[in-house]
Amino acid sequence: MTRKIGSRYTAHQILGRGSAGTVWLGEGPEGPVAIKLLREDLASDQELVGRFVQERTALLSLDHARVVGVHDLVVDGNDLALVMDLVRGTDLRTRLDRERRMAPEAAVAIVADVADGLAAAHAAGIVHRDVKPENVLLDMQGPLGPGGAHPALLTDFGVAKLIDSPRRTRAAKIIGTPDYLAPEIIEGLPPRAAVDIYALATVLYELLAGFTPFGGGHPGAILRRHVTETVVPLPGIPEELWQLIVQCLAKAPASRLRASELAARLRELLPLVAGMPPLDVDEPDTEASPAEAAHEESDPEPREAAPRRGAVPLVPGAAPADSNRDTHTSMRVPGPDELAGGARGTARAPRASGAARPGSAKHRASARRRRITLGVAGAVLVAAAAAGTWVATSDDEAAPPDTSTSAPPAP
Ligand code: ADP
Repeated sequence: MTRKIGSRYTAHQILGRGSAGTVWLGEGPEGPVAIKLLREDLASDQELVGRFVQERTALLSLDHARVVGVHDLVVDGNDLALVMDLVRGTDLRTRLDRERRMAPEAAVAIVADVADGLAAAHAAGIVHRDVKPENVLLDMQGPLGPGGAHPALLTDFGVAKLIDSPRRTRAAKIIGTPDYLAPEIIEGLPPRAAVDIYALATVLYELLAGFTPFGGGHPGAILRRHVTETVVPLPGIPEELWQLIVQCLAKAPASRLRASELAARLRELLPLVAGMPPLDVDEPDTEASPAEAAHEESDPEPREAAPRRGAVPLVPGAAPADSNRDTHTSMRVPGPDELAGGARGTARAPRASGAARPGSAKHRASARRRRITLGVAGAVLVAAAAAGTWVATSDDEAAPPDTSTSAPPAP
């Protein structure tokens, strides 16, 4: 099956499907390319097409070995396509799904590559806003690096922003994927470079642990954990590496490292983690986190079992093919009574083999001790679960906020 994309490109074969469209192996005047053809309902959205064209210059200008380059944006009849470098390999999510956890050396090498790509983007004033394993491609034809890792490239720059849809709600919104969202975004601050560092540290944690530090359950619960919870240490992780993760997961954006510093520090740590096997960590195996399980004990109201991860479509109407970590979240700012309950600790504690099982009496007792009850000034966000799309209010957007959903002023 072959189809023409604009006058210069031909799409030959489907490489993969994402939530926003289909990626094709294609051919252009300069040789093979990857063509991301956006879904028809998106391509027929005039406003989206307008923004696509507006973003063109920024997207085309980013040229770095660790970034999947965008060659062209094609708007042709019903087609809206991004023409990109062809990366012969797989995405990091696929690799992680296969391996569950990665050896620290390979994980550190991959994340250092992505940090290099981010450093270039940030230097050009571009914030990615949706750093996650799905958006990291591994170049299987590139030379093997430390730990046998293939070179990693960051992709989908600007795509989350492009597909953002202000018309669909009067409230301004958060763009991102719940598991990887920095707390300041949840609190309504404009996304700066540090949000990408937070997301990338989350990815590093996930590569090492096999799960994200604050994921699991309802998207609203995930968002609340980002704002209120402290990351729980991974058993067996070298201290220096752990400190780096903690620093980059700091709630205060200014406390996080910059991308170039992160890349350099990670590379310094490579000898330390050389040859280490994957960490021996069991994924929390209950639907609720240990602390949620502890809460359940004292909660007489039976609650519906939450899905393990939030099913949050990237765009309205998107099939939740990648339901776990898709983009877009819709929230409202809670009332005082909700705020009072909002600081309940729900971070999922990773469990070393032999450690108390989540949900056991021993574990619940220690979870209770660990529970963190940070006061949440400003916006602790509670998910408005009724909506299929998730949107959070934010001050920096032009859209007039709904009076019942306006975010408090940025501190
Ligand atoms: P998602 O919405 O999950 O981020 P994408 O639409 O970006 O997914 O991509 C879907 C699949 O297409 C990816 O898993 C990957 O295998 C493939 N792909 C994406 N971009 C490229 C590229 N530049 N080169 C080669 N394959 C790609």
